[in-house]
Amino acid sequence: MATTIESEVDVVIVGAGPAGLMLATWLSHLNVRARIIDKRPSKIMTGQADGFQCRTLEILDSFGIDRVWKESNHMLEVCFWNPDKNGVIRRTGRTPDTPSGLSRFTECVLHQGRMERFFLDHLKENGDTIRVERPILPSELEIDTSKLEDPTAYPITVRLRHLTDEEATPSQGTGIPNGLFRSNITADDTEDLIKSSADSNRAGTDEIVHTKYLIGCDGAHSWVRKQLGFKMEGEHTEIIWGVLDVTPITDFPDIRVRCLIHSASAGSLMVIPRENRVVRLYIQLKEVSEGGGAVDRSKVTPGQILAAAQKIIAPYTLTYEQCDWFAAYQIAQRVADRVDLSERVFLAGDAVHTHSPKAGQGQNVSIQDSYNLGWKIGLVVRGQATLEILKTYAAERLQVAKDLIAFDRKFSKLFSGRPAKDVSDETGISLDEFRKVFHQGAVFAAGLSVDYGPNILVVKEDDGSVRCVPSLASKVPIGMRLASHKVVNQADALPIELQRLLPSDGRFRLIVFAGDISNPGIRARYDRLGVYLSSQAGVISTYTPQTAARDSVIEVLTVHSAKRHHVELQGLPEAFHPFDRTRGWDYWKVYADDESYHEGHGRVYENFGIDRDEGCIVVVRPDGYVAAVVKVDDTRSLEAYFARFMIRV
Ligand code: FAD
Repeated sequence: MATTIESEVDVVIVGAGPAGLMLATWLSHLNVRARIIDKRPSKIMTGQADGFQCRTLEILDSFGIDRVWKESNHMLEVCFWNPDKNGVIRRTGRTPDTPSGLSRFTECVLHQGRMERFFLDHLKENGDTIRVERPILPSELEIDTSKLEDPTAYPITVRLRHLTDEEATPSQGTGIPNGLFRSNITADDTEDLIKSSADSNRAGTDEIVHTKYLIGCDGAHSWVRKQLGFKMEGEHTEIIWGVLDVTPITDFPDIRVRCLIHSASAGSLMVIPRENRVVRLYIQLKEVSEGGGAVDRSKVTPGQILAAAQKIIAPYTLTYEQCDWFAAYQIAQRVADRVDLSERVFLAGDAVHTHSPKAGQGQNVSIQDSYNLGWKIGLVVRGQATLEILKTYAAERLQVAKDLIAFDRKFSKLFSGRPAKDVSDETGISLDEFRKVFHQGAVFAAGLSVDYGPNILVVKEDDGSVRCVPSLASKVPIGMRLASHKVVNQADALPIELQRLLPSDGRFRLIVFAGDISNPGIRARYDRLGVYLSSQAGVISTYTPQTAARDSVIEVLTVHSAKRHHVELQGLPEAFHPFDRTRGWDYWKVYADDESYHEGHGRVYENFGIDRDEGCIVVVRPDGYVAAVVKVDDTRSLEAYFARFMIRV
């Protein structure tokens, strides 16, 4: 019998779906030693999630991943279809799919397999240090509680079992891929896989891994969650939905826009126009769900789903020759009672929240969970921040999960409900009510309503040590992601979105809205800040190793409100455009809120509610969320903020 290999690694990620791959991406950008395993021999190829929300697109862009935006179908309009007084469906309204002005992106759609491909390619291009290892699953977990307080210790031990491809590939039936190959809507087979591989006497293909952090990104049936004894709270509903990804042949006029169709008595249908002529149809399967009792979803065929869709969309015709994927599912709206154990074992994604897919949230929120977690683990592992910051994960993301389930309940009920016949029909859902909830939900659905509460990383008001003054940037909500407007590069006149200056690379940022620095008084204040930031006592020197670049831990960016032509970059203090012996001056740190030559004026001061003379410093976390707003000369508040969690060099 072969000996069992033992090794150490900083992070083990279980599950290579969107949540796990996002986390692996963060950790690879931060050069953290991590492994990611998945029990399936391959990524998903078709079906499942397809909606990408604004915030997810901003996040992907911050890693330089722009392939979703380029390859996807951009969904710009929603049409509402409802029965008229004769029961015939009519278009009753149109509205933008994403409210304007929310983000530089709008909702777009592309199947989840492509997203996973982009993550995998990106990991490869980004040093190839973290690769998804398949098919492997964890079979035992032990936690040494005596080591939890020591950030250098490896308190977690997992036994990993290597499977054969055969063992790890569930039966997929025949014909069209039914998408249940790796889905949160099927029964779990993890225990069966562990048992059958043990029975097959394949000892020797196990290994023991000691790790600092274990992250369960292993989906709705999470094995990691079960080991921790955490519970999912919530309920299953009886409503059965079918999903078809087809190339439709139809005379329905709005097949290339997102449509919410409520028929008089045949149920509801959602149309999602996708890439490559594909259209996704979400259909309420009335016949199947009627009659009470449990329904065997595996017996649902694409033909049944199509027949249900045809009834809803009549008098228009609908058929197809080409079906890429289908599934039938029942909605379960549930959220985990906890998301971490002692800030060493974490859960993210569907392991924490499951709900209906129609609002296009699961993949997005899953990616955003691990986007929140990745940099925190990275900074702790790199010895830059204390373990304390890891507590903010539960505080920040559990609330988002609860909000998500509440949103989904509202949205699903509305969508599954019967349309009102007229104003006196109190049990039916009126079109006005539907549109109101739809509009209210749009900002949430875009991922842009997330507002992290005060904690060690977020200071929302003067707390005595950090003298936060929110009114200095009255339209920059602290705790929310920093919005984007164009600013003009001082050195080369190039207009650029502010968010593009905030790549996901683990750095905190001080965005100095310096005011009109062509005014000598305001310039003197800015110069004094520059002297402080260059000094040994300043926050940059306190947390940046001497051998590292000055901007590698905290980056200072300036956005001034002077006319660009009235400012000379070379005259500014070095802290604002650091000099490197081999690379010269840094020309990408100072920007003007000014008219650009070809792309107009971003008006960032106005849009952020910042006075053009008074200015302020906006402290931004590595994930682009606003941490605090302080006065330009309030260096003591900067010190107090970072002293809460950063480790001095
Ligand atoms: P998963 O994608 O489930 O990934 C978990 C991974 O862990 C899998 O690769 C699995 O093989 C692996 N794994 C599980 N157990 C183990 C184990 N014990 N050991 C090792 N590996 C393990 N979301 C949207 O945002 N927009 C949409 O439009 C949308 N539409 C959807 C449509 C349908 C029909 C369905 C079913 C879902 C849809 N979703 C949508 C939801 C979305 O697919 C999920 O929310 C998302 O995939 C969750 O990502 P995850 O990484 O948390 O989990």
